[in-house]
Amino acid sequence: MRIDLTGRRFGRLRVLKPAGHAKNGNALWLCQCDCGNSTVADSYRLRHGMTRSCGCLRQESSRTSSQHNAAFLQQQHNHGKYLFNEEGVPLCSIKMGKRNTSGHIGVHFNRQSNQWFARLMVNGHYVLLKAFSTYEDAVAAREAAEEQYLRPRQVEVG
Ligand SMILES: [Zn+2]
Repeated sequence: MRIDLTGRRFGRLRVLKPAGHAKNGNALWLCQCDCGNSTVADSYRLRHGMTRSCGCLRQESSRTSSQHNAAFLQQQHNHGKYLFNEEGVPLCSIKMGKRNTSGHIGVHFNRQSNQWFARLMVNGHYVLLKAFSTYEDAVAAREAAEEQYLRPRQVEVG
């Protein structure tokens, strides 16, 4: 028995008239979508909220979410690109990995900027993060920072 859906609204669809039956026996309805398209929808899917547009609704929502993703990625990208420490060293240029190319912990060479970076992290914060033109300067800065922050074991408990 066909339930008369004529004139009923389901999401963006307004039911215009019967459109025969699907192979499975479900009643089909010709529907007018708010976007201007018309579509034939299954009565069961309409009444259970499974069909709510000619297909434009799904397209729009997936497009919106991918736009959000792109904006999010761009934001993350800029975030990394423009993060500088107090000394003006861009953080994204500093490799955080354990691999070390200089042999001296906390000093490494950055090929992109052609500079040596000295860094020292204490309690999760950089107390030293600075670029130098020579390896010796970077090592000296690192050793001075170690002297200042690590030798006296009176580390403040945060
Ligand atoms: Zn539509």
